[in-house]
Amino acid sequence: MGEAIFGKVVIKGKIILKTGLHIGAQTEAIEIGGIDNPVIKDPVTGEPYIPGSSLKGKMRSLFEKSKILDYPPEFRVPPPNEEDTSKYFLNRNIGTTRNPIWVHVHETYEGAKACEICRLFGSSGNSNYPSRVIFRDAHLCENQNLEDVIEIKYETAIDRITSAANPRPMERVVPGTEFEFEIVYNVENENEKSEDIKNLINLMKMLEDDYLGGSGSRGYGKVEFRITSIVKRGLDYYFNGANEKTIVSSEEGLRPEEVLGQINERL
Ligand SMILES: [Zn+2]
Repeated sequence: MGEAIFGKVVIKGKIILKTGLHIGAQTEAIEIGGIDNPVIKDPVTGEPYIPGSSLKGKMRSLFEKSKILDYPPEFRVPPPNEEDTSKYFLNRNIGTTRNPIWVHVHETYEGAKACEICRLFGSSGNSNYPSRVIFRDAHLCENQNLEDVIEIKYETAIDRITSAANPRPMERVVPGTEFEFEIVYNVENENEKSEDIKNLINLMKMLEDDYLGGSGSRGYGKVEFRITSIVKRGLDYYFNGANEKTIVSSEEGLRPEEVLGQINERL
């Protein structure tokens, strides 16, 4: 099944690293003598990037966790052997064992369509509702030099039993590095468009107080969003050569909260 599309809203901007970022690469193909904790890089350019799936997974996870009490009990699995029934797990891990991303999954398409989280981010499994948003990979901004953006930091892990220090090298993208992001939203329902876009912008705000990538509890992955443009493209843009409608445009980039006030009447 697939919903009709009535147009697209394209949100572009910059992600600025406020602390070091470590989004790990697969380590299977590392040469001997290579660093054992590399960051993910574009195989062609060798440049680090932020996978769209990382951004999307993180925003979805924050959205779900913040709405957990609004959803029916089948989406909340009480933790085993715990008396405290105010704590729940969501019912599906779409990340890895090491970096789990818990989501809820609907049994039906209609259930997913009626859910403000799943209509935006999609739902897999039996419901199989396609996401309304596409998160492109965020690549380095043009003014960034590859030589300047990666460093190797020695992290000392302390063995909690023996107290032995075990320094290990970890690659990270340095604070101040800027990436270009692009999020495309498919308009499937005009009445839900504003609310969906607002949810996305609010999740950017929330992600700024959370983290991207690994080692977030040790300070890694703090980011800032700057939105440089939001445009709306109707079907007449694609099929009849009509102009797109500019909703937001700012060379410097606006903070998510600055954008919120502007989109309401313009979208
Ligand atoms: Zn849902």
